[in-house]
Amino acid sequence: MKLFEYEAKDIFKQMGILTPSGKVSKTPRESYKIAEEMNCPVVIKAQILIGGRGKAGGVKFAENPEEASKLTEEILKMKISNYPVTSVLIEEKLQIEKEFYIGFTVDREEKKYVAIFSLKGGVDIEEIAQHNPNDVIKMHVDPSLGFRDYHARIICRIAGITGKEAKLVSKLLSQLWKVIQKFDAELIEINPAILTIDEKLIAADGKMVIDENALYRQKEIVEKLEGDKVIQDNSETLAEEIGVNYVSLNGNIGIIGNGAGLVMATMDSVFLEGGKPANFLDVGGGANAKQMEKSLEIVLSRPQVKGVFINILGGVTRCDEMAKGIIAGRGKLKKKIPIVIRLVGTREKEGQEILRKAGVKVIDSMDQAAKEIVRIVRD
Ligand code: GDP
Ligand code: MN
Repeated sequence: MKLFEYEAKDIFKQMGILTPSGKVSKTPRESYKIAEEMNCPVVIKAQILIGGRGKAGGVKFAENPEEASKLTEEILKMKISNYPVTSVLIEEKLQIEKEFYIGFTVDREEKKYVAIFSLKGGVDIEEIAQHNPNDVIKMHVDPSLGFRDYHARIICRIAGITGKEAKLVSKLLSQLWKVIQKFDAELIEINPAILTIDEKLIAADGKMVIDENALYRQKEIVEKLEGDKVIQDNSETLAEEIGVNYVSLNGNIGIIGNGAGLVMATMDSVFLEGGKPANFLDVGGGANAKQMEKSLEIVLSRPQVKGVFINILGGVTRCDEMAKGIIAGRGKLKKKIPIVIRLVGTREKEGQEILRKAGVKVIDSMDQAAKEIVRIVRD
């Protein structure tokens, strides 16, 4: 689960990490007041769950409350990679001496956490890693040892930083390691950590992803945070509620299937025909009509979906149940969206009959069905 910058920073603060003073605002008026209280200049930052915000114009500086209000209005009108901005974070503007990149992530190949540090913070870390890999220092964490203070000191030595700076960086690395463990984070990234001209090291940005498999023991954060997530993309939350697997993507074809393998194959068939999935949903084994009905709703909740491809291979899952769910879900649609269905296996005759009666076409071959949905959304 990705956290918003302000949520990550709340956690940092709670764990003793320095963050800029700031407040979240949802309106230009609110920003005016906050900027007035905070003594300008301030930084105004779009709160979205994806990267590339600075480059997209989602970080702006204001010299006075009027400007803060005006810039908030501009940012709240923006869409960044298709996500509407619904709030901004207003923060004191720090005076930069240096910008560092500091973070931890999971190296899945090594099956270890890895600490990452760079003196070239602020900009795109992927870009630095690609062009100047020597500027990015990585150190894997032995799971039986954990990240120790001496690891932090080694990183500083490799980076060539000494004295007070090294102390500050080491302390921040150790604090982040504590955050990782306490909150089951799989990624935590401060880019930039700003060393101010008065020699403080402050987390000026914050990214944090919590391991979804650990959410059951992170109830406190989950409850606190979920309200805001719903605004961004409620489809994933809804899917969780009815116990199906769902992922949002960037195309325009909704995909529903039963079983992970079939869903992946369905996506491949759409890709092969030149189509792009908007999302995919796996109803799992033995789903009932209600789950299918809800699943259709979830897939269609993404506004970019122009058509849906439902591919059911009945086993424990019964085709007649699925057909009933599809008809019920379709009946609730406000706007007519084409649905292409392949429905074979257990009770396929009954299922196909239900669909035929409702005037819904069924295609027996998966490849034909993929061709059909891609053709429909293209027209
Ligand atoms: P991102 O581009 O979405 O990662 O947004 P960041 O929060 O990292 O901000 C982008 C850049 O804006 C940083 O690398 C800084 O150079 C600059 N910036 C952010 N906060 C401050 C600040 O408080 N003071 C100053 N002078 N620059 C800042
Ligand atoms: Mn950043």
